[in-house]
Amino acid sequence: MVGAGVVGTTTAFELTLDGHEVTVFERRSTVAEEASFATGPIVAAGWTAPWNRSERSLCMPWTSRSSGMTLNRLPRGSEWRWLWHWLQAGRHERQTENHRQMYQLVRYSQERLLSITEDHALEHDRSEGMLVLWRGPRDAEQARPALLQMKDLGIGFREHSADQARALEPALNPETPLHGAVELIGEAVANCREFTVSIRARAQRLGCRFEFNTRVESIDSASSTTVDLRLASAGAPPSQNALRTHAETERFDAVIVCAGAHSASLLHPLGLRVPLQSVQSHSISAAMREPLDAPLSAVFDTRHGVSIARLGQRIRVAGGCDFGHPPGQLSRSTLRRLYGALTDWFPGAVRLGGPHGSLQEWQGAQATLPDGPPLLGATRVPGVWLNLGHGSAGWSMACGSARALTDQLAGRNTDIELHGCSPRRYNL
Ligand SMILES: Cc1cc2nc3c(=O)[nH]c(=O)nc-3n(C[C@H](O)[C@H](O)[C@H](O)COP(=O)(O)OP(=O)(O)OC[C@H]3O[C@@H](n4cnc5c(N)ncnc54)[C@H](O)[C@@H]3O)c2cc1C
Repeated sequence: MVGAGVVGTTTAFELTLDGHEVTVFERRSTVAEEASFATGPIVAAGWTAPWNRSERSLCMPWTSRSSGMTLNRLPRGSEWRWLWHWLQAGRHERQTENHRQMYQLVRYSQERLLSITEDHALEHDRSEGMLVLWRGPRDAEQARPALLQMKDLGIGFREHSADQARALEPALNPETPLHGAVELIGEAVANCREFTVSIRARAQRLGCRFEFNTRVESIDSASSTTVDLRLASAGAPPSQNALRTHAETERFDAVIVCAGAHSASLLHPLGLRVPLQSVQSHSISAAMREPLDAPLSAVFDTRHGVSIARLGQRIRVAGGCDFGHPPGQLSRSTLRRLYGALTDWFPGAVRLGGPHGSLQEWQGAQATLPDGPPLLGATRVPGVWLNLGHGSAGWSMACGSARALTDQLAGRNTDIELHGCSPRRYNL
């Protein structure tokens, strides 16, 4: 397997549980070091709904509009094509089908996350129920089609007036206008990194091998029954005696690529052209100042596309969808939007400075496909499988994707219909 983010590690766990001999190659020194590091913690079924009509639209960094994708520079070469496909996929018929697929996968994942957590007594920060907040009547009106579809699929939610919402989350700022809210029922918040660390330990105990500081340089599907991985050291500290000193090749029955935003370049030499785009998103994590002023679980501000959640003794605020923003560089305008949402809804929740303040501003790359659902399953290249392209909802789809892929690999029927996730839709 390539990649030990939440998707790769959970897949390794499920495959090992199913009796496979699994090796995970990860170029970083441990699990969940890239997109899965300080990610938003939302796993609620229904949270991926198109709450806002301008969700699939483009805007410029200097505009005041805060939903949609922000273009930080002019697209280059094939990026124009990707953006065109991304905009086209927002057309009604296709978007409805794509959302249906994602709701089902998130709900399935939510069930699987809960059963793994309980069966293996995993410890990670988690809570139930979240509120999707509507600032005005227009926000509520734009959410109607999504609510109808969720009702159709039996996804649990309750609609609330502003007063009812404030009773559920008593720390919501009374000064900020609130029209109403939707409560998403069931598991809603979970700590992605903590879960990934715990599930790695469980997988290792079951016999899964993790090779850190090891980069998969290339995949060679030389025969119909085996796959060769060319491996190299990814430059860990000299004390790490497990390091490879030179590139070498190992042979496997199959490879599952879970390399997040880096998957496309790894698959390209095999003739598999994955239309994957890195879209940057941001998070702020800060120590909770006063529990009474903080959310009990989580809220999602639909107008600004920002989630605010309690994670143990910390508050995490996440959001933003930046196209073409340089990786590793924080976007001040996106961070301003996150701070703005936090101050609007929970002004006294966190300690931003001082001796006990431990503020972390972070940016991560979401590996995004133009249409939405991830790529899950076998490709046309023998032995090469995919579990990638989960975009802004990889944590909430990870456990279900891992289980479904394991079932596919064993030739079993999957518990849910996964037609919309097939690699064949991109001729892969
Ligand atoms: C700010 C932010 C907020 C988010 N909020 C939410 C949320 O609330 N809910 C939700 O569901 N999702 C959320 N997401 C999305 C979610 O975090 C991602 O979809 C998910 O973490 C992707 O996991 P992954 O394992 O596919 O990728 P990653 O975690 O990026 O893992 C890929 C791994 O592959 C390794 N790798 C790459 N190439 C190679 C190679 N050649 N050899 C060896 N190793 C390699 C990398 O080092 C990396 O560790 C958010 C994302 C961000 C950035």
